[in-house]
Amino acid sequence: MASTITLSSGGKMPIIGLGTWKSSPGQVAEAVKTAILAGYRHIDGAYFYENESEVGEAIHAMINQGVVKREDLFVVDKLWSTFHERCLVRGACEKTLKELSLDYLDLYLMHLPMGFKPGDTLLPLDDDGQAIPDNSNFLETWEEMENLVDAGLVKAIGISNFNRAQIEAILNKPDLKYKPVNIQIECHPYLTQEKLINFCQSKGISVTAYSPLGSPDRPWAKPGDPSLFEEPKIKAIADKYKKTPAQVLLRFQIERNVAVIPKSVNPNRIKENFQVFDFKLCKEEICTILSFNRNWRILAMEWTNKHKDYPLNAEY
Ligand code: NDP
Repeated sequence: MASTITLSSGGKMPIIGLGTWKSSPGQVAEAVKTAILAGYRHIDGAYFYENESEVGEAIHAMINQGVVKREDLFVVDKLWSTFHERCLVRGACEKTLKELSLDYLDLYLMHLPMGFKPGDTLLPLDDDGQAIPDNSNFLETWEEMENLVDAGLVKAIGISNFNRAQIEAILNKPDLKYKPVNIQIECHPYLTQEKLINFCQSKGISVTAYSPLGSPDRPWAKPGDPSLFEEPKIKAIADKYKKTPAQVLLRFQIERNVAVIPKSVNPNRIKENFQVFDFKLCKEEICTILSFNRNWRILAMEWTNKHKDYPLNAEY
């Protein structure tokens, strides 16, 4: 049984979940089933990944076969940026629930602090290749997300890709009804995020590390980009514990009480990524891994860096 992080809302989030970005509709259902059979109880999805219905299909297959009950699972999904305007938030959540064939989500995250032009295009771009903004601001979007909790559509709400000032803007919002219980941010040894993690944890906001393995299948990967799996010091730590570099990268986050959502569609790797509860890294090893930090971002989102709410210009 994986350990859990207790959320400020009272719910418990399993510290390891299965990521599903880039998992093709043809593969993701098998991946989710393999994960649940291997012991995963946390699944990370998003409208933007365009595979929600297959994720839902797999969840229901496992429930129908008696492997798990709905209440044993922690299903996370995300509000996409083209649905930030007040009148669109509830419909977006209902659409996701319909795709998943679920009547509630355990956690619903605002995928980005930036709203984009509503419509059928997931990523509306202008002639310069920049995302076209909408008229929303994330505080209003947050209020609509609070209404989803009251309507019983989601158990808890959180954010993703927000910087400190943006998080503070939510926390300091007059009449704030629900605090974000979780933030999902890019985090791995090349981007260790100590300041942002310390800030969030000090405010009772749990942290989930996305791309914890360095996202080797990101569509824009180039030969010569750094690779965490090839780092000799990480390999040496892995050898010491008879583990793989991937397992060391995941354990590193777990030791900081940061949840991880590694993506895989490979059955052996899905199982391998869950076998991280039978060893512990020592303080020196954590320091070694932290020393890899070079503020290297996989998701710098240059295609929206002119947006008023672009989060990544701040120090953290
Ligand atoms: P990860 O860091 O999880 O890396 C995934 C890649 O690693 C795939 O190529 C996978 O290949 C490979 N891999 C998985 N396990 C192993 C292993 N044990 N050994 C070797 N290779 C392995 O990248 P992601 O960017 O996908 O991040 C994880 C998840 O985080 C996403 O899937 C998504 O759910 C979430 N996310 C959220 C974002 C947000 O904005 N909130 C942004 C980005 C990600 P294979 O499948 O072939 O095993």
